[in-house]
Amino acid sequence: MKRIPENGTSSVWGGEQEPAPYGAITTPVFHSVGFGFNDVESWLDVVDGTESGYTYSRNGNPTVNVLEEKICQLDEGEAATSFSTGMAAISNTLFALLKPGDRIVTIKDIYGGTNKLFLDYLPNLNIDINWCDTTDYAAIESAIKAGCQLVYLETPTNPTLKVIDLARITQCAHQYGALVIVDNTFASPINQKPLQLGVDLVVYSATKYLNGHSDAMGGLAVGRRSLINTILSYKEITGAALDAQSAYMILRGMKTLELRIQRHNENAGKIADYLSNHFLIEQVFYPGLKTHPDYEIAKKQMSGFGGILSFTVKGEPDRAIQVLNHLKIAHRAGSLGSVETLAGLPKTTSHAELNAEERERTGIPESLIRYSAGIENIDDLIHDLETALSNIDELT
Ligand SMILES: *Cc1c(COP(=O)(O)O)cnc(C)c1O
Repeated sequence: MKRIPENGTSSVWGGEQEPAPYGAITTPVFHSVGFGFNDVESWLDVVDGTESGYTYSRNGNPTVNVLEEKICQLDEGEAATSFSTGMAAISNTLFALLKPGDRIVTIKDIYGGTNKLFLDYLPNLNIDINWCDTTDYAAIESAIKAGCQLVYLETPTNPTLKVIDLARITQCAHQYGALVIVDNTFASPINQKPLQLGVDLVVYSATKYLNGHSDAMGGLAVGRRSLINTILSYKEITGAALDAQSAYMILRGMKTLELRIQRHNENAGKIADYLSNHFLIEQVFYPGLKTHPDYEIAKKQMSGFGGILSFTVKGEPDRAIQVLNHLKIAHRAGSLGSVETLAGLPKTTSHAELNAEERERTGIPESLIRYSAGIENIDDLIHDLETALSNIDELT
């Protein structure tokens, strides 16, 4: 029986061409826009798809293909395709698979950019969106039973770290003939493999943990070959392709994916424990805390609880701003999933696209701090938080 390599091996070797040209140890970056052939017959074979090969980099590129194969191996998917950003992956996937009259069931806690698609763009195409409370299974299941073509989920959610039972929702969706798409950006394939839980398609912002170094953007979709082919054909026309240089940066980042995720998990867990016991902290949102309402589901479907947590500071909402302003190691910056610790308010990061009222409706406290724990030394990170918390104005 063919052994499926473990995460650490797939991170390094998954999809890598062997042997690479000239015996190169690392994947060469093919900047070439086009690819030539010895004769027109073999060119036609590649265009027809009877032979594999490359013709034009908008449609396929050898460096980019290594990345697609690597994510396939990590997620145990049949096929994958890549995009210039995570939002390109999400929007191309949705536009390729949906048609007028379709109905989507989703949850309130989805990424701000995706929510904007649901709020402002898909309804123009006569696609109906049904937002359910994220952990209200009865509401989600009855919305699915009422008839829908697609269920769109994200877990853990941004920024309040709710966890949703993927196997349960997927079972219900499949019973009623709906496809299930999961944005797995927060967990990464190291902590969670939705395809193994029955989900049809996984999408990623590769800009976050997969690349991990805040220096390249990208997106991915992984799943059944027939679905990926439909998305790929659409992407060839929208032109949302990933370029070879960014693909290489993401590939280089992914070599250390398992190592980094282990450290992110460990650091976030320790910070969540520390903050839970701090007298100035009102609430900590982290699925690895036993007090988290979704702890049992997280333990069941994830192999690590992730590197992101969020928390609220007691007192006036501007306390959160004071804490952020006093952080020295953690950068006040958007994005997440990087080796550097990044912290911010949802209104400046994940949910900047929404107005205060929309955030309120989504259940995001205005004073919430989202904290993406990096891979720095844990004692330094805790000292940084300790100092920032001791610097806020006296309790009133
Ligand atoms: C960042 C993010 C996206 C969007 O990805 P980009 O690469 O910024 O386009 C989508 N979903 C989640 C969960 C994200 O964190």
